[in-house]
Amino acid sequence: MFITAQNRIALISVDGDPAVAIGQEEAGGQNVYVRQVGEALAELGWQVDMFTRRSSIEQPAVVQHGPQCRTIRLAAGPPEFMTRDNLFEHLPEFIRAFQDFQQREGFQYSLVHTNYWLSAWVGMQLKKRQPLVQVHTYHSLGAVKYQSVTEVPRIAAQRLAVEKSCLETVDRVVATSPQEAEHMRSLVSSQGAIEMIPCGTDIAQFGTVRRSAARQQLGIAPNAKLVFYVGRFDQRKGIETLARAVAMSEHRRQGNLQLIIGGGSRPGKSDGIERERIEELVADLDLTELTTFPGRIEHSNLSLYYAAADVCVVPSHYEPFGLVAIEAMASRTPVVASQVGGLRYTVVSGVTGFLVPPQDEIAFATAIDRVLALPRWRDHMGELGRHRVEAMFSWTGVATRLSDLYTQLLSQAPSQTAPVAVEATPPAASIAIQEPQIAA
Ligand code: UDP
Repeated sequence: MFITAQNRIALISVDGDPAVAIGQEEAGGQNVYVRQVGEALAELGWQVDMFTRRSSIEQPAVVQHGPQCRTIRLAAGPPEFMTRDNLFEHLPEFIRAFQDFQQREGFQYSLVHTNYWLSAWVGMQLKKRQPLVQVHTYHSLGAVKYQSVTEVPRIAAQRLAVEKSCLETVDRVVATSPQEAEHMRSLVSSQGAIEMIPCGTDIAQFGTVRRSAARQQLGIAPNAKLVFYVGRFDQRKGIETLARAVAMSEHRRQGNLQLIIGGGSRPGKSDGIERERIEELVADLDLTELTTFPGRIEHSNLSLYYAAADVCVVPSHYEPFGLVAIEAMASRTPVVASQVGGLRYTVVSGVTGFLVPPQDEIAFATAIDRVLALPRWRDHMGELGRHRVEAMFSWTGVATRLSDLYTQLLSQAPSQTAPVAVEATPPAASIAIQEPQIAA
């Protein structure tokens, strides 16, 4: 018996589970990207299986997102949360589980879209064993990240080698901003095929609530000057710069300034150290009275917070894309962001917000005050941001471009274009998976 795999594709995101709650521990933009892209591709007619690592025994092995889109959790390493830097040694188990899955289902995928360098390695190993088109999105580049950290992890050399080999050998690497593409060329390799397709956002979810209505629902005073941050608690996110900038704001003296710092887990989780550090800093800066930490904000509730805010601040030291900036812009809220990475592509300084040097609290304070000073200008910038997102960053538009890319790559790979058909019960394959070598 043969089963065909027409239109059936795999998104692989070993470390970023698309079905998990966003905003705590390491779950952020990559998880959102995989899920939204997966669901939008399914709407376009693809049958999408999103593969990730099972990180808790309570998690169901399969989560159905729609008739044509599901998350499949594979066993690889202990079923508990592990930081990304510790996952590499468990990848052979992930590959074996993926192959077992294909065997049970009786077909092989002809296209995988891998996410982050760990999954890039998985895809490259699979490509040695079956005809496969591999598309890859980095989400973060080691070569850029390690420039801005004081302690380089032991896995760094391995990661850099995989990222280079991935760029040079996979069928197409998707850069989510021109800045990321530029980094790939200048810091990773001059070889390999790159296509720029940005990240997106749900333009129907954001931008539907008015500021006054959102404030009423959240219990925020109509005359408050509200500065909003949302994201993971990670030093790279620059929340410290935001707190210091708010402490310097001219509006602080007027007594109606408010700061909401959303995201983060409960104490005891892996991002708890940064959250505690920020809470202490907020107390030291005497900002406790005006600051709220609502914790992780449900993605479905975020539209209220963005709409209620006067300004959304993205103070990252580095940001490959930065979904929060386009979510705020889709909600008609101006963005003050670091002039780095994808934020230089999404935010137009002086038009949809302001770009300022990273870690420069004085520049952040000045830009925040400029937005807060003139509500009419704030609203105008908000409108221009909304237009920019509608034109360039809707998930549907992004998924259509990815879909066209897949179709083109499948048609260029004659041995892979035809739906791949394999026997439902192939002979037990003796597949030797090369064990990962951790570079010293
Ligand atoms: N997010 C959320 N709730 C939170 C914190 C974050 O839904 O409490 C979402 C946020 O809306 C965005 C994503 O997590 O969609 C973060 O993506 P971004 O690209 O800004 O940062 P990353 O996590 O990739 O560094």
